[in-house]
Amino acid sequence: MKDTGICELNSDGKVIRLEKEFYRQGDVFKSRDAYKNRPDAPCYVPELTDTVYTAGDFLRLCKGQKAFADQLFDEVDWQHPEALLEELIRNEEWAECPNCGSFVDYDSGYGDKKCSRCGAEVEEQTA
Ligand SMILES: [Zn+2]
Repeated sequence: MKDTGICELNSDGKVIRLEKEFYRQGDVFKSRDAYKNRPDAPCYVPELTDTVYTAGDFLRLCKGQKAFADQLFDEVDWQHPEALLEELIRNEEWAECPNCGSFVDYDSGYGDKKCSRCGAEVEEQTA
C-alpha cells in the first residue's frame, strides 16, 4: 500500500520534509511500510501537530503488546495515538489488567476477560 504523505528525517532525526495527505478523517502522514519494516522510521504524524511517531512509539504506548500496537496503528487516522488509546479504553474495546496493567482485548465484554500476561480476571468496567 502506498504511503499517505511524506515524512523525511535527516541523520540527526530532524524533520526535513513533511507533507500530509487526506486519510479517512484528516490530513496526516501514515506509512504502513515504515510501520512494518522500519521500526525507527517515521510511520505516523497526526493532523494537529507535527509530532513524529515510529513503530517503536506505538509499541511503547501499547506496553510492548504488538497486537495492540498493530490495531492502534491501523485505526489511527487523524488524532494522536495517545488520544485514540484513551478512546479505546473509554469505549471498553480495550481494558487494562488490574493486576499488571497489560492491555486486554475486552471488546465491550465480548472479548477476553482474562489478562493474557498474568491471568488475572478483568473486572467489569464501570464507565
Ligand atoms: Zn495482567
